[in-house]
Amino acid sequence: MPGAMLGLLGGGQLGRMFIMAAHSMGYRVTVLDPAKDSPSSTIADRHLRADYLDSDTLYKLGSTCAGVTTEFENVPAESIRTLAEHGVVSPAASSIAVAQNRILEKKFIVNNGFEAVPYAVIQNSHNSNEALLQAHPELFPGLLKVSRFGYDGKGQIRVNSAAELDGAFNGFNREPCVLEQLLPLESEVSVIVARGFDGEVATFPVSENQHRNGILDVSIVPARISPEIIHRAKEIAVDIAEKLDHRGVLCVEFFVVADGSHRKLLVNEIAPRPHNSGHYTIDACITSQFEQQLRILCGIPLGSTAMHGAAVMVNLLGDLWQRGEPKWEEVLRHPSVKLHLYGKLAARPGRKMGHYTVLADTTEAALQLALEIKQALA
Ligand code: ADP
Ligand code: MG
Repeated sequence: MPGAMLGLLGGGQLGRMFIMAAHSMGYRVTVLDPAKDSPSSTIADRHLRADYLDSDTLYKLGSTCAGVTTEFENVPAESIRTLAEHGVVSPAASSIAVAQNRILEKKFIVNNGFEAVPYAVIQNSHNSNEALLQAHPELFPGLLKVSRFGYDGKGQIRVNSAAELDGAFNGFNREPCVLEQLLPLESEVSVIVARGFDGEVATFPVSENQHRNGILDVSIVPARISPEIIHRAKEIAVDIAEKLDHRGVLCVEFFVVADGSHRKLLVNEIAPRPHNSGHYTIDACITSQFEQQLRILCGIPLGSTAMHGAAVMVNLLGDLWQRGEPKWEEVLRHPSVKLHLYGKLAARPGRKMGHYTVLADTTEAALQLALEIKQALA
């Protein structure tokens, strides 16, 4: 109930927005994060600054918090498992273990009957890689992705031939990887699902996502795709949440590819937490993805995911700061545009510093204004 102390693993902006949702409903939050001055720890009620595997700190967190959640998937699954032995944890270590490893994630997708991008596992044996690639020439040109710790297009590289693969694999210190066929994408969409401990499920409107250099740039909601594909994307996302027995918020990223005159959905990635493509929910939906995360953790019924209108979200990357502070008046002078900054101290190129969301009656109107602002800031 409100007033309780909740635990959060991770220091990023997703955690910061979770804390804001928790604070607005009267909860307090303790953050466990090894870094100093992170976006979430600076607004937390308490910051435990330690390694995620530190057993004394995990004990302190577990014993003083009514429930613990996470804002990123790279926390060691063992830490979550330890916390779950003594209290309420959302999501479970099993969800995180699948989503934090591209090899397990792909296997999970395919073994459960969903379609993934054609791929092969690349491991530390030159001979078997060679044999495998001879059998799969269709994987070139492809993208080699390291199986763990990749994000925002980091930890992936284009490889045009089997000959290039070994160099790329060495570049990743011969860590286990997946090689994916590089596909011509018609579009990308994502679905945020909320699933409670009692199995209650809600999906948010489908977001259409445009990336630049592997980093999310713009999300357009509702996605401009057919009602059939929208329906199917939600169905698959719920199915995935159920098959994972996920208790929390989950995002499923899809590729939309042409299949003759039809379109098909391939599952790209699963994030076991709120997602950048769901930031629009803060301003455009009755309940945000972060409030949903809070409700699930606290055993409160899910909120409505209905949307007030159309929305377009634009990410603000550190590149924008190259010539000093961005011209915020270009964002702030519009009455239906919401600015969010994450309080990060250093603006590095490619680093997510904030976002803005444009609200309008139609996606066309929202997109037009979003792009005008983008140009004015550039
Ligand atoms: P990240 O963890 O960095 O989000 P993704 O696998 O989602 O990694 O890749 C980031 C982006 O790169 C995708 O959203 C997409 O735009 C592009 N991309 C990734 N894999 C492929 C692929 N196999 N074919 C075409 N584009 C891809
Ligand atoms: Mg992705």
